[in-house]
Amino acid sequence: MISRKLSAGDIIDARCTRCREILNHRIVAMVEDKVVRVECNTCGGVHNYYPPPTAKEARAAKASKEPSAYRASSPRSGSKKDPVEAERAEWASLRPTMQIDKAQDYAMNESYRVNSLIHHSVFGLGVVKQLIAPSKMQVLFEDGVKLLRCQ
Ligand SMILES: [Zn+2]
Repeated sequence: MISRKLSAGDIIDARCTRCREILNHRIVAMVEDKVVRVECNTCGGVHNYYPPPTAKEARAAKASKEPSAYRASSPRSGSKKDPVEAERAEWASLRPTMQIDKAQDYAMNESYRVNSLIHHSVFGLGVVKQLIAPSKMQVLFEDGVKLLRCQ
């Protein structure tokens, strides 16, 4: 079996921490034959290399994103009018309008405006829905609305 050796500057598939997708990345740094840092071709972010998930992991991730599957495993799946479900649907409908490269990294000492696009290290991409004085805001994330601190 012939395996081509990777080197810095090569393009490989990697998991982007910002885009949260498997995308083309350019190798920035390697240690021996291991890729350590990559640059995302989509958002331009440089981050540690995360290999793309195996087919099995990809299927599991897809299954967990399925709202029905998620709800089915939840003990509180009786009510049909689930606000979180509606929030998830709203996020999904807004997703095509979100420009990832315009998202600000969330920090609690920043101030934000309604409709600002932010990137949270845990919740991912979110849109500011409402500012609640003092120093709190509601942000719509893929997983529903969260209350975050801000200035
Ligand atoms: Zn990216």
